[in-house]
Amino acid sequence: MAEKILVVEDEPAIVTMLKYNLEKEGYEVLVAEDGEKAVAVAEEECPALILLDWMLPKMTGIEVCRHIRHKSQYTNIPIIMLTARGEEADRVRGLQLGADDYITKPFSLPELNARIKAVLRRAGPVDDKGTLDFEDIHMDFTAHKVWRGDREVSLGPTEFRLLRYLMSKPKQVFSREELLRSVWGASIHVELRTVDVHIRRLRKALNEGGEADLLRTVRAAGYSLDTEPGDSDDEDDDF
Ligand code: CA
Repeated sequence: MAEKILVVEDEPAIVTMLKYNLEKEGYEVLVAEDGEKAVAVAEEECPALILLDWMLPKMTGIEVCRHIRHKSQYTNIPIIMLTARGEEADRVRGLQLGADDYITKPFSLPELNARIKAVLRRAGPVDDKGTLDFEDIHMDFTAHKVWRGDREVSLGPTEFRLLRYLMSKPKQVFSREELLRSVWGASIHVELRTVDVHIRRLRKALNEGGEADLLRTVRAAGYSLDTEPGDSDDEDDDF
C-alpha cells in the first residue's frame, strides 16, 4: 500500500527529479503543474502529503494552501512548502496558513526525504513495520490482517480500506462524502448510504467478540474511531 504524495511544481526538471526520488522511496507520486490542478487532484485522490511549490501558475502556493486548509474537505492533508531562498515572508505566511513544514530550494534529497518522513509520522500514517494500532485494534498491511486483541477479524476489502482510513487519523470525524471519495475513489459512482452499509458491516465484524464499540457515529458530521461513545443508539444513517 504505497502512500500517495502529490507534487505541485511547474518546473519539469524538478518534477522529474522529485518523482524519481519519491518513487524510489516507495511512494506513489501524483503531479500537478499548477495550483488549480493541485486542488483538483488533492480533492480527488486525497494524498497522504502534498509537496507544494510556492511560485506556481494560476493559483499560487499560498492560495492552494489556503484552499486546502479552509475550503476543501481534506483540510488536514500535510503540506510541505518548497520555497526559494530568501522568501522568508512567504515561509512565515505559509506556516501561518497551516503548512506543516517548508524546505528551501535547492535542497538535498536526504533532507527532503527526512522532512517527508517526519511530517507523515506526525500525521499518523502506517509505521515502518507496516502496521497501525488504535486501542486493541491492530492492522498488519504486510499480512493484510486485522486483529482485535487476540481475535483475528475477518474483513471484506472495502471494510479493510475503510478501517485503514479511519485508523490513519483516530478521533478525527470524517464525513460520508470524504469517506466515499477517499475509500471508494471519486471516479466510482456510489450512493452516500453505501458508506453506512459498510460502516455497519465493519462495526459488526469489529465487535463480534463482544468488544467495546470504537466506531463512533457523530450525528450530522460523520464517523470516527474513538473511545468516546457516539450517537449510537440511533441508526448510523441518521444524519
Ligand atoms: Ca515554480
